[in-house]
Amino acid sequence: MNDEFCIHPAVDGGVRPGSDDFTGGTLHCHCTERSVEVTINAQCAHNHVCGCTRCWKPQGALFSMVAVVPRDAVSVTANEDKLEIVDAAAAIQRHACRDCGVHMFGRIENPDHPFHGLDFIHPELSDETGWAAPGFAAFTSSIIESGTDPQHMGAVRARLEALGLTPYDCLSPPLMDAIATHTAKAKGVL
Ligand SMILES: [Zn+2]
Ligand SMILES: [Zn+2]
Repeated sequence: MNDEFCIHPAVDGGVRPGSDDFTGGTLHCHCTERSVEVTINAQCAHNHVCGCTRCWKPQGALFSMVAVVPRDAVSVTANEDKLEIVDAAAAIQRHACRDCGVHMFGRIENPDHPFHGLDFIHPELSDETGWAAPGFAAFTSSIIESGTDPQHMGAVRARLEALGLTPYDCLSPPLMDAIATHTAKAKGVL
């Protein structure tokens, strides 16, 4: 156990298993007044921690926690007027609360993108328990881009392994395979 750094508050005490009969919950931004509410009518999939510089991370955490849900299972149910897109040119359009900065959901509008039809969410924004547990760490090396000393990477990777979150420097092999399969089918070689 290394308590000099925080991987993510939801996993630092150990990864909690999800619940098989869980069917969704309600996400809230961090505003104490007029918080943005997003209702998710589905269990999440491919939950993981992510070290990239684009995902929203809670204060002090080296990683975000992010998962996907079907796009049609996502609806903004309160204070939608506070949402704005962080970067309209990005492949994933992250809809964030303009007051607290929390990202409520990320959506891919390009129909040719391998993950079109899936929205990215941060399950920790929900008070409900039962979300599918995170299963790996994506873009681990990218935490250096946010200021992590490269000399700490061995300890960070060891901590991830100890938590059962296998560290990768891109996405997990199944997701990378899914992207490559999509590309191969688009090219007509599969
Ligand atoms: Zn907010
Ligand atoms: Zn990320």
